[in-house]
Amino acid sequence: MKVKIQVVIENDEGQVEDVQQVACLRRGPLTPEELGLNLAEARQILHDVQQSMVTSQVAEYIQGQRQCPRCSVRRSQKGRHEIVFRTLFGKLRLDSMRLRHCDCDPGQPTGTFSPLTELLKERTSPELLYLEAKWSSLLSFGVSCDLLGEVLPIGDELNTTTLRNNLHYVAERMENELGEERESFLAETVSLRPEEQPIPPGKPAFTLGLDGAYVHAGGRAGWFEVIVGKSVSAAGDGKYFGFVHNIDEKPKRRLYEVLRSQGLEADQPVQFLSDGEETVRNLQMYISPQSEHWLDWFHITMRLTVMGQIRKGLNGVESASLAEQAERDLESLKWHLWNGNVEPALRLIDGLKHLLAGDEISAERQKLLKAIRDFGTYIATNQAFIPDYGDRHRNHETISTAFTESAVNQLVSRRMVKQQQMHWSHLLLQVRAQVLNNELRQTFRRWYPGMKAETETAVKLAA
Ligand SMILES: [Zn+2]
Repeated sequence: MKVKIQVVIENDEGQVEDVQQVACLRRGPLTPEELGLNLAEARQILHDVQQSMVTSQVAEYIQGQRQCPRCSVRRSQKGRHEIVFRTLFGKLRLDSMRLRHCDCDPGQPTGTFSPLTELLKERTSPELLYLEAKWSSLLSFGVSCDLLGEVLPIGDELNTTTLRNNLHYVAERMENELGEERESFLAETVSLRPEEQPIPPGKPAFTLGLDGAYVHAGGRAGWFEVIVGKSVSAAGDGKYFGFVHNIDEKPKRRLYEVLRSQGLEADQPVQFLSDGEETVRNLQMYISPQSEHWLDWFHITMRLTVMGQIRKGLNGVESASLAEQAERDLESLKWHLWNGNVEPALRLIDGLKHLLAGDEISAERQKLLKAIRDFGTYIATNQAFIPDYGDRHRNHETISTAFTESAVNQLVSRRMVKQQQMHWSHLLLQVRAQVLNNELRQTFRRWYPGMKAETETAVKLAA
């Protein structure tokens, strides 16, 4: 059997203007391998269809540009040159004709111009730019090249430098769109709702978990802090966001835009949960008039668990009574904090400090004492943000930022550690968050309104 594939170009009146043979496939007796197209054939066909289609489109466009729109006289040609345009289905060399401006209007520009060069200012098609940005925000540039090159007929035309430049271009464009930073977004949150609309009572809360992660920049640059978070709306949909602390000049605006895109309304409470770090806590302020800020239980228990481990080191080293007293106090401390009883908790911490202090104490005891002191400072600093966790838990309210752990895992990957530069990591985070939130396509459609709304598939990276 022979299968021929042709491209037939018709004009708007339906008359055939050109027929081009693209492929001729031969098939023998049916085997599973030869049923339908194989990848190599599909790639070749796509490439040739693209070439033929684009050539016709370009020819028609140039033809339309030949006539002066004012006097309809044909503009004269003044040379031509080739431009290279990268598309999903091949890097194409296009013939760009240079035309002379008509001199019928003294007010018109003079000299020559290249209509096609002016039309295709970016030399990468939006669809290709989208896929390049999407995959290289999730995977290394090398793997992204391999992946796109294997399935699309652009294999040799992709390289890591181009991917890197294009990802950077997309990220910068996104960053430039972010509105200005404000000290407070309270007024704006209020104005989101039209005045005539009454505020319905008892709106369910947004829950927002924030966490910090440290990434090593390599060499002398040291560590930098990445703040990531997940915002869960009342309806239950979650969105990721993240930024590099000290690089991001608009953290509040960024957070505000995430909440706004999830439909935050003026009367809607926002519950923030964090590990109490000041950088993160400052961010929470001024976003919503009804926001609550809580220290998350997850971080408290982590510290208590570590102290419990250190305490075990006292067994056999210190007197049994001291070791047992420390154990009982730590257990009691946990329950006081669980019930939001900060005062008794702080008294217990003081008691433990007295119990453990002394001259020439063992290294184990010294270690526990230091941990208790640090914990005491942590609880005292955050005492305003410690709720009755037990009560919240019984009322099915969020008490832990464990749900943001996936944000840390998905946004801050080893990949980022390898990037090593703060600014670059920051930009990468912005594109990656949009990909994970299924928003990148939307952004591209805003930039390129002719782009189709393909249903984006949610991408989940293995932790
Ligand atoms: Zn003219």
